[in-house]
Amino acid sequence: MHYISTRGQTEPVVSAQAIKQGIAPDGGLFVPERKVSVDLNQLHKMVGAGYAEVAEQILSLYLVDYTPEEVAQCVQGAYGEGKFDHRDIAPVYSLNENLHVLELWHGPTCAFKDMALQILPHLLTKAAQKTGEKDEIVILVATSGDTGKAALEGFKDVPGTKIIVFFPQEGVSQVQRLQMITQAGNNVWVVAVQGNFDDAQSGVKQVFGDLEFNQRLAQRHYKLSSANSINWGRLVPQVVYYFSSYLKLVEKKQLAMGEPVNFVVPTGNFGNILAGYYARQMGLPVKRLICAANANNVLTHFIGTGIYDRNREFLKTISPSMDILISSNLERLLFELTDGDGAQVRKWMGQLKDTGKYQVDDITKQRVQDIFWSAHASDRDTLETIAEVWHRHNYLVDTHTAVAFRVYNDYKEQTGDTTKTVIASTASPFKFNTSVAEAVLGKEKVIDKSEFALLDALSKHTGWQIPAGLRNLDQKEILHKKITAKDGIGTAVADILEAD
Ligand SMILES: *Cc1c(COP(=O)(O)O)cnc(C)c1O
Repeated sequence: MHYISTRGQTEPVVSAQAIKQGIAPDGGLFVPERKVSVDLNQLHKMVGAGYAEVAEQILSLYLVDYTPEEVAQCVQGAYGEGKFDHRDIAPVYSLNENLHVLELWHGPTCAFKDMALQILPHLLTKAAQKTGEKDEIVILVATSGDTGKAALEGFKDVPGTKIIVFFPQEGVSQVQRLQMITQAGNNVWVVAVQGNFDDAQSGVKQVFGDLEFNQRLAQRHYKLSSANSINWGRLVPQVVYYFSSYLKLVEKKQLAMGEPVNFVVPTGNFGNILAGYYARQMGLPVKRLICAANANNVLTHFIGTGIYDRNREFLKTISPSMDILISSNLERLLFELTDGDGAQVRKWMGQLKDTGKYQVDDITKQRVQDIFWSAHASDRDTLETIAEVWHRHNYLVDTHTAVAFRVYNDYKEQTGDTTKTVIASTASPFKFNTSVAEAVLGKEKVIDKSEFALLDALSKHTGWQIPAGLRNLDQKEILHKKITAKDGIGTAVADILEAD
């Protein structure tokens, strides 16, 4: 099976090539050229299998140019012994018969990005070998917090790669900053940018687009690559946990094989929920995919009206990983729902670029609405929901997951649908602890407290343990002290590679 571009103007490539390139040469995203399916019989045989086994089976269906041994090595490297702090990797916690939580935060950085970024480095280095790449791969990342740390953990000490992460000096939380600047590994660099996330992001984009700079790097046998969420190698590992959670529920007799479920997904770049769409396309019995947004509710508007409009104010919320106005992975959904009409997708994406807006036709809109449902939650709703879920279920959720809980309540109220439902939980409650502590302990208790004091207070109050990745961060040695002006990102990359 080959991969083609959502914009229809590139030659088909094998999956290794798609993963190595990240983005298609015509500016589109790589998608599988045909549908892959798994029938109930096959699903039935997978009940009781561990996460790694399910991952091997699902990934092999898409990465057909990787040998089964290669896929198995990638899976072991990512989800093998000791990498995640739960033996199920992505455990399912049942609140009651109808409502289940898929915990995607048991990896080293305590957020869902680990599910894909733990395996991407392995897929990518194999891809480089398989496509005859001789140069060393240099991963550049601009991060608003979560992705940077997850990419550092994924790529640290992976042979044949180097990783350089740029984060905005005033734009990440204390925990996020310390997670990054204490990062160990012989191939990792972390640089603070004097500016905000947009400055870091445009600086990195400029470096990618600078042909002359890239040629000079090539002479020294370096090739720049990206780990961001439009890479097929980040999307396909996320399909796995939709299957594994369904199989777990069948195993626990909470579901009959073939019985439909809903998934509720807190959404930003549309990567996580799109993986759910592919799982459904493959034949997993999914009824609705419920897209939960925060106040930056472009997707809710799109799913309701068929109009995507990013011309609006960017709002900073307490669920910052969902503060996004351009959900890049939506492009893949448009391609799938127009039966692969690259010319049409190209037109909409052109309008988005030129005017910040496009409107899909009625048939496409109907297809979106047949599968997706969406609503959004405000910061106040989010805090209320954290407190409510804690009091009702003795279960602690982070701000992003709380958005999903809130939206699920709206869904149930407005549709009366009682289908069993799985909520994707995307971060440990300790990762965004200021808001969680405020919701559970009260506002007075959090004023003037450091994030570290709050971790302790929250743990003491709830009896929940602080995850290893966040414990004692304030006592770790600071290993990265580089700072750059916002127009100095290219120079910083050159200096780092020169000195190494
Ligand atoms: C990245 C992230 C999201 C959004 O996921 P997308 O795939 O971008 O939709 C939600 N929650 C957390 C905690 C995240 O880190």
